[in-house]
Amino acid sequence: MKARCDKLLKKLAENNIDAAVITSGINRRYFSGFTGSNGVVVLTEAGRVLLTDFRYTIQANQQCAGICEVRQVDRGITRAEIEAVLSEFGAKRVAFEDAAMTVAVFNDFRQLPFELIPSSREICSCRIVKDAYEIEMMQKAQNCADAAFAELLKFAKVGMSEIELRNELDYLMRKFGADENSFDTIVGSGPNGALPHAHPGERKIQSGDMVVIDFGARVCGYCSDMTRTIAFGTPCDEMLKIYKIVLEAQLKCLSILRPNMTGSELDLCARDYITEHGYGENFGHSLGHGFGLEVHEAPSANSRSMDLLVPGSTITVEPGIYVEGLGGVRIEDCCVLTETGFINLCSTTKELIIL
Ligand code: ZN
Ligand code: ZN
Repeated sequence: MKARCDKLLKKLAENNIDAAVITSGINRRYFSGFTGSNGVVVLTEAGRVLLTDFRYTIQANQQCAGICEVRQVDRGITRAEIEAVLSEFGAKRVAFEDAAMTVAVFNDFRQLPFELIPSSREICSCRIVKDAYEIEMMQKAQNCADAAFAELLKFAKVGMSEIELRNELDYLMRKFGADENSFDTIVGSGPNGALPHAHPGERKIQSGDMVVIDFGARVCGYCSDMTRTIAFGTPCDEMLKIYKIVLEAQLKCLSILRPNMTGSELDLCARDYITEHGYGENFGHSLGHGFGLEVHEAPSANSRSMDLLVPGSTITVEPGIYVEGLGGVRIEDCCVLTETGFINLCSTTKELIIL
């Protein structure tokens, strides 16, 4: 984490910025290692400080050892306390997280007697390239999800409700080692599958249903994200046809996925294929997104994204087709780009599973 702070300060120095104030929970964790809910990290060349309150000082001293000095302040960290640290280290031009601040906090913050430079983009972009530890944690998270799904398939059956499936899967992910979910599990059965972000409800699985299940585990802060669509009994011909198209589109994307391509190139690969097969209007979301400490982070793969999928970055590949009144299919893997190709963190089969 010390190296992460060094990298950020070096990058900011290119724009003559000599300090950064980190206020969001995710970036606070990324740069300092501190996982508590209240704190401000001040980074300068001359000194690095985490301000936090009494509840967290022991924890912060453990988590931030060798990275930054922990100073205890009252729970509502004040502008004056931040100003004191910045002044002590001679800061002049200060980067701050403009995209992660309420108007109320900003109105207070802007009164700091320094030149304030909105820098969320630069600060967050440090997280795009993952290191070996981060990749290991995301693989662990995905392993929990794969194991949970395999276990779920042993007893999932017609008559269970979407909520029951969700509850079992969430429990199993934790049983296999997840700290928590990386987002609320999506279960969309039968016609509910046409809602890309279906919230699980009381509907019971019926024979002939396809069910979209989108879920992820979090380990040491790091997220996984996978979708599988499974069938209970034999689905209708149109849903079988749709499944085949989505699977082909997903495999096509994986066949061209390579480092330093753009997000739009990857997106258009699936979009063109699905459009050629008559369902272009039914694929209304982007192909994929990066993931890490957040389940959605840079880079993105949509039809306009010029983001480069650089080695060490992450991307999901998740084409889908959604037909109102009929159902939906989405198939999603989460991948890490390498110097020569990519690692697919998911090991669950994508052949249609019929229970
Ligand atoms: Zn997902
Ligand atoms: Zn996703």
